[in-house]
Amino acid sequence: MAQVTGHGGGVWSLKVPIPDNPLGHTLVHLLDTDAGPVLIDTGWDDPTSWDTLSDGLRALGTSVHDIHGVVITHHHPDHHGLSGRVREASGAWIAMHAADTEVVRRTRASRPGVWLGYLTAKLTAAGAPEEHLAPLRAARASGRTRTLPGLRAALPDREIVPGDLLPLAGRRLRAIWTPGHTPGHVCLHLEETHPARLPGNGRLFSGDHLLPGITPHIGLYEDPDDTTVTDPSPSSRLRSSRGDPIGDYLDSLERVARLAPAEVLPAHQHAFTDAPARVRELLDHHEERLTGLRALLATPLTAWQLAERMEWNRPWDEISYGSRNIAVSEAEAHLRRLVKLGHAEAVPGDGPLTYVAV
Ligand SMILES: [Zn+2]
Ligand SMILES: [Zn+2]
Repeated sequence: MAQVTGHGGGVWSLKVPIPDNPLGHTLVHLLDTDAGPVLIDTGWDDPTSWDTLSDGLRALGTSVHDIHGVVITHHHPDHHGLSGRVREASGAWIAMHAADTEVVRRTRASRPGVWLGYLTAKLTAAGAPEEHLAPLRAARASGRTRTLPGLRAALPDREIVPGDLLPLAGRRLRAIWTPGHTPGHVCLHLEETHPARLPGNGRLFSGDHLLPGITPHIGLYEDPDDTTVTDPSPSSRLRSSRGDPIGDYLDSLERVARLAPAEVLPAHQHAFTDAPARVRELLDHHEERLTGLRALLATPLTAWQLAERMEWNRPWDEISYGSRNIAVSEAEAHLRRLVKLGHAEAVPGDGPLTYVAV
């Protein structure tokens, strides 16, 4: 059964399940406009998720065939997965920030094996042990290509321009660029008075940027075409500095706090109030974490060694293969931040890159 919640003022949320995922579900939002219903995110591309979305829309007196447009907070498959099917059924447009559209375009175009090669090179440079690298090399040698959920993702046909109002008849929905979790993540600010007159400025659809009880994953922005990663020379790797996702994320948090929305409607968990307080908690958490990591770097460490020593939601021994890759990416993003702040530096040399506190 579809779980539908009315938030007042022509806004509803639908709980769309994510199969085999501890997050449980994506909250897909429906926004009524004078031109027809608009979805904010769509959910994972899976038959059960599709049925749940369709049933939920029917329970609200509309249908997937009636959707006028789809606004996507970011390219991840639990948000953008069903966009293609919605567009096929309804002829709706799909809007996304250009930086995430670029990720979708690259993923769709990536040749078999390129992603595996990139991941192997990246993990080697990060100091991953041989037993972690061997399965990747074997998969590449066998010609088996990993099936990535993003390979069939729909190419958006409209661009979300930061700071602009989206062209939605009868509504005021403004795009707020909040890079960090992905390079093109956006929050959507509904600049209309809160229907229950809660104090603050309207409502914010926050995607994965601001969630009430969990912190989103922040890793390096992946780019299989980045030759500085696959070029094994140490000087090339030292030059590589593709952005600072943690720095972007912290700036984006402050941007959202300044909006002071009356209520936040995130894409997971549940709606909540007092965004500035939640932002403060997250900023404190990240500051503490960076301080802790800097202390660990009293001894030079590779990104892999740092990931092993960082605090996760379970001991390192119990972290699955795929989650270790994500953990290392998060360690690398923190190293990048510490380097940008002048709190750590890369140690020149051969082999895996090590970092030390300064
Ligand atoms: Zn996400
Ligand atoms: Zn998500």
